[in-house]
Amino acid sequence: MVARKFQVRHNDADFVVDYDTDDGFETLKFQLFSLTSVVPDDQKIIALDENRVLSDDSDLISVSERLRLVSVNDEVNEQIRPYIDKVRMYEDPVYQQAAQKTAPVDELEEKALVALAKEGNFEPSKVEQDHAFLLQLLFWFKKSFRWVNVPPCDVCGSETIPRGKGSPNDSESQYGASRVELYWCKICLKSTRFPRYNDPLKLLETRSGRCGEWANCFTFYCRAFGYESRLILDLDDHVWTECFSQLLGRWMHLDPCEGVYDKPLLYEKGWKKNLNYAIAISKDGVCDVTKRYTRKWHEVLPRRNITEPALSALLATMTQECRRGISSQVLSELDKRDQMEREALERDLHSTDDASISLPGRQSGDKEWRKSRLELGSDSLSSSSCPVRKCVDEHVTRIYNAFCPVLSQFVKEENPKIKAIKALEFLQKILMDLKNTPFKLRKASIDSASNTIQAIVHQLLPSFAELLNALSLKSKAEPDGKVDICLAGDPVKTSLGLPVVLDALDDMIQNLKKIDNFVEDSLSLPLLKLNRIHSGFVHASGEELPVGIVVGLCMK
Ligand SMILES: [Zn+2]
Repeated sequence: MVARKFQVRHNDADFVVDYDTDDGFETLKFQLFSLTSVVPDDQKIIALDENRVLSDDSDLISVSERLRLVSVNDEVNEQIRPYIDKVRMYEDPVYQQAAQKTAPVDELEEKALVALAKEGNFEPSKVEQDHAFLLQLLFWFKKSFRWVNVPPCDVCGSETIPRGKGSPNDSESQYGASRVELYWCKICLKSTRFPRYNDPLKLLETRSGRCGEWANCFTFYCRAFGYESRLILDLDDHVWTECFSQLLGRWMHLDPCEGVYDKPLLYEKGWKKNLNYAIAISKDGVCDVTKRYTRKWHEVLPRRNITEPALSALLATMTQECRRGISSQVLSELDKRDQMEREALERDLHSTDDASISLPGRQSGDKEWRKSRLELGSDSLSSSSCPVRKCVDEHVTRIYNAFCPVLSQFVKEENPKIKAIKALEFLQKILMDLKNTPFKLRKASIDSASNTIQAIVHQLLPSFAELLNALSLKSKAEPDGKVDICLAGDPVKTSLGLPVVLDALDDMIQNLKKIDNFVEDSLSLPLLKLNRIHSGFVHASGEELPVGIVVGLCMK
């Protein structure tokens, strides 16, 4: 037996505990309970000098005498609370308007409609459009936000090295930066501050940070565009987003740092992460959705410090607070959805995951940083790198066929090669101008009086009719001699076709430059790409890769 005297700090009070090491760890916990009223299940005892948490296996003979007692409930409570304040900020209409203004709404809408059209859906419902827009918002956000591992020097832009933490100044505190990291410049030796802003309005401006800032700002965007959204907090180190998809009739995982959606096993399977918590925080409440993100629930439970009943009670209290003042009708809707989600989570937990789906390791962040976290995963497969897709390629075929009359027309002309190159380059320019205009209002003008090339194009216009038609465009002669090229029908068909035509034009111009003489026989030359296979798998010739489809069909 060894008699020990521990100095135990709990909240702001100090206690002295006389303890006999023969009695075992449980006895120590009961002694602490009698002094502090923190029940044994709720106790986390930390050896201060060693900075580690004591457990049944700890050697209580050798452990240093300064201990700290923390209530696990209090600790989890304190970790989650700030996020409730954060998600409430998303509801501010002024904030939401500011967010909407910083997103290229027209472009995202176009991309969403084009993605749907590529799946053969030219008349999507509102729910389908909303779902597709959300995915485009995610992809755009991934490109528009910057990952900061170590910030560059504020003064000269060189590399910096960490030199600890600082306290926030007034302007930093104003935007919720309670933590500020400090860095030295390796070259000019000046100091650079990296305030960890929490205010989503500020993040619209800085557009940088680590996963905390990313998830905070992206979830805010989702709210600003009207999606039911939550921040998902893994109490250890990662944060991401969930949105309620009306299309899927359920909550959907979205990770803005990775540009990945609906892959909840990304962390456990892809990153090889031991997930302990996934706590969903929204304006309507807080709940534990860990079961969506794990297939190893039996391993998760023993890793948690807090007991299940205590966690449920804590989250239920928070939810009640969030729902205070909500009408009984809305409350009953929310309750119904909660119940459906609980049932779905149980099903998720027992669903056998598809072993053929391989999930990538962590992509965001510095490689060394990721390696240090062992989150690189087993393979380097990127979810958006697949160059081949199955698609409805009728529009591609139509476009390629429509080039035949154009080429035939050139052969009949004098100096066909030079003329053809110039005319095609001019056409390319017009179509590029069209591509850069808002997709619902596309328009470009050809003025035949102003230069000879334009005059040639003007003269050739009849042979372009089929091509314009394939692009859902039409030409209209104005009384002043100008010719307007404008939309003829569904603007999405134009959006879908333009990249294909531009790619084909590029190819054709390059090939024309290479051949010596352009005569009738040249038409049998491979002026157009031959690496397409009709009605089956095609190379996405010049089309932007439809990430949504690629993920679904091309994961090996
Ligand atoms: Zn510097």
